[in-house]
Amino acid sequence: MPDYSFLQYIDSRLLFGFSFSSEGNILASHIVECAIVEAVKSVQMGAAERILGHPWILNAQNVRLKYFEEMAQQVQTGDNEWALKHFANPRAAITTWFENCIESEESMEQYREKKFLPVYKEKLEALKNGILNETSCENAISVAKEYILNSLEKDYTCSQDLSKAKASDFQHFKHAFEDELKSTKEPQLPTFKPLLSSQRVSQRLGCTEYCKWCGALCWGEFGHAENAGDLAKHNSSHQIGGLHGISYHGTRHLVVTKCDERKDESFVLFGAKKENGDREFRMTWNEAKAHEFYKDWNYIKHYKSEFNDLMTWFFIKLNTDIAKELDLKPPLPDEMAGVKMDSTLADILATIRTAIAAEDDG
Ligand SMILES: [Zn+2]
Ligand SMILES: [Zn+2]
Repeated sequence: MPDYSFLQYIDSRLLFGFSFSSEGNILASHIVECAIVEAVKSVQMGAAERILGHPWILNAQNVRLKYFEEMAQQVQTGDNEWALKHFANPRAAITTWFENCIESEESMEQYREKKFLPVYKEKLEALKNGILNETSCENAISVAKEYILNSLEKDYTCSQDLSKAKASDFQHFKHAFEDELKSTKEPQLPTFKPLLSSQRVSQRLGCTEYCKWCGALCWGEFGHAENAGDLAKHNSSHQIGGLHGISYHGTRHLVVTKCDERKDESFVLFGAKKENGDREFRMTWNEAKAHEFYKDWNYIKHYKSEFNDLMTWFFIKLNTDIAKELDLKPPLPDEMAGVKMDSTLADILATIRTAIAAEDDG
C-alpha cells in the first residue's frame, strides 16, 4: 500500500492553513488508510477460516494424504517429475504444493475481490461514526489518534492547541473530515499476503523438516523443534534410503534399507567429498546418529506407519529415475527382490484413508 500521507499533509496545509479544517482533512485520509488495513485483516481472516474448514486440511496427515495421493496418481500415469522433485527436496515440494492448493481452493482470489470493498465500506463507516459521535474536538481527535495507532502503528500529532478549541472549530473539523471522506475514491484491491503466512493455516502442514538420510517428512507438530529435550527431536516413519538418493559407496547402487532398520554397527559415510573419492566422515551408524548433523532426529520405528507401503510403492516406481537423475545405479536385484509390494495403488490408498478416518474420529 503506498504511503501518501506525507503528500496529503502538505496539500491540506496549503489548502486550509493550520486550522481545525486542515486537521479534519488530514485525519480523514488517515482514517481511510485505517479502514483499508482493517478490511485487509478482516478479509484475510475470513479467507483463512474458509480454508481451515475443509476436511483435507484438518491436520498434517490429512494434508499429506491429499498430497501423496495426487502425486501417486501422477506417477501412475507415467509422469514422475513432481515425485522426483519431492524425494529430492520434500520440504520445498510440499510447501509449494500446499500454498498452491490453498490459494486455488474455491478461488481465494475471487473471495477477496468480492469481500474487500463491502468490508472496507463497513469499516470506514464504523471509524467515521466513532469519531463524529464524539462531542468535542479534543475527544474526536483522541479517538482518531487511537485508531491510527492501532491500525497504522503511527503516532498522530495534532498541530492545533486542542484546549483552545471552540464549538465552531469542531464544526469546521467535522465538515472538512466528512467532505474529505466523501470525495475519497474507493480503494483498489490491495495485495494480500499469501494465506500460508497465517500461522493457523501453515501449522496444519505440520513440521516440514525431513530426515537427512532417507528424506522422510517429520510427523511432528508445526514448531515442535522449539521445545526442550526430546520433544524437539524430529521423528518419522523412515522410508527406503534410496528414495532420497542414498547409495553404496563405491558401487553406487541405491540402498533399499530404511534408517530404522540399518544395523548400528554398519558403516556410513557422509560430508564433503575428499580428493580420493572418500567422504569427510566415516563411522558406524550408531555413531552417525549421535553426530552433530543428525542428532536432532529419532531413528527408531514410528508408530505412525500408514504411509509406509505408499513410500515403498513410490520407490518401486521411481528407483530407476532417481538413480538416473543422481548419476547412480538402481538397487541390486537381490535387494530389490526384498522390496515386496503385492497391493495395488488403489488398495494402498484405501487402507490409508480408512486408518486416517479412524484416527480423525477417535
Ligand atoms: Zn530416515
Ligand atoms: Zn519435526
